[in-house]
Amino acid sequence: MVDRQVVYWHGSHLRISCQYGCAENQACILPPLFGEDAEVSVIRLQPRLALRERALRFFDSTRRSRLPTSPEQEDRIEWLRVLPFLLMHLGCFMVYFTGYSTTALVTCAGLYALRMFSITAFYHRYLSHRAFEAPRWLVFLGALGATAAAQRGPLWWAAHHRTHHRCADQAGDAHSPHGKGGFFWSHAGWFMTRRNFRTDLSQVGDLAMCPELRWLDRFDIVLPISLLVLLGIAGALLQQHAPGLGTSAAQMMVWGFCISTTAVFHATSSVNSLSHLFGRRAYPTRDHSRNSMLIALLTFGEGWHNNHHWCPGSVRQGFRWWQIDLSFYVLWLLSIVGITRLRRLPARARQHKTSPSP
Ligand SMILES: [Zn+2]
Ligand SMILES: [Zn+2]
Repeated sequence: MVDRQVVYWHGSHLRISCQYGCAENQACILPPLFGEDAEVSVIRLQPRLALRERALRFFDSTRRSRLPTSPEQEDRIEWLRVLPFLLMHLGCFMVYFTGYSTTALVTCAGLYALRMFSITAFYHRYLSHRAFEAPRWLVFLGALGATAAAQRGPLWWAAHHRTHHRCADQAGDAHSPHGKGGFFWSHAGWFMTRRNFRTDLSQVGDLAMCPELRWLDRFDIVLPISLLVLLGIAGALLQQHAPGLGTSAAQMMVWGFCISTTAVFHATSSVNSLSHLFGRRAYPTRDHSRNSMLIALLTFGEGWHNNHHWCPGSVRQGFRWWQIDLSFYVLWLLSIVGITRLRRLPARARQHKTSPSP
């Protein structure tokens, strides 16, 4: 019987895929194993094709790479994919050239509030935890606003977050600051890798049944780009027709997109990193989650993270009257006019147990 072996040749690394489970750069030890009659196919993957594949995934996140990968490669940072994230941070420094205006500052604050609420209320409390009931059109609008914050699509976000709750601060938690990667990994490094780029659909089967959410997840990059373009157009029109406002296309893009989106990102990421490191532990959860008033104010209530890990199904995360939870207040107002339906604060959340900090 003739064994059929396939050898993938890409760049300077020789990768083997065969029944012997060969690893990278082990080609030299394999020929003797193939035997005289083995049929060996060598496939050279064109570097340009690989680059094109990776570039296309900017616009279609369901696109699979044709390149086989090793576990080490899975954990490497994918710089091409991270480039827009870095450019967005560099764009913030353009404020030195564009200056500011009241219009730009209001736009920046408005888009921060809108997208932060969309992330905390819809990506987190609704899609990840189903903590309240809402009509489908509202969920879609909320997911639309959250996707415009450039934090990937709704299925990706919810899948990673559900996994976080399942094994918080333990093996399998993609963004624990107590893992080997430390603070930077939990804050920004984890999502830059190929491993965490994918959406684990096994975690979000209920959400994947909604075609509108699947579409948003697949083309998640379209919303942030559209927002950037719209801000540029709005700035140019205002500069032409209302010069008294003192704004411009570049100024609106810098304040409305770069600064606002960067602020939303770091505030949200602080919940993954800082909220598992600093603050008070009110409940004896199995993880290192903590409560912080400052992060709660910046993230519209998400800073009550120890409360949240104690009772993830609660739409309200500030359990006490003084624990400010802006997202909950808005959802409560929407429930008063009959748009959303909230459940009562669970008994577990009303016990107010305390334990000494570990
Ligand atoms: Zn957490
Ligand atoms: Zn959660």
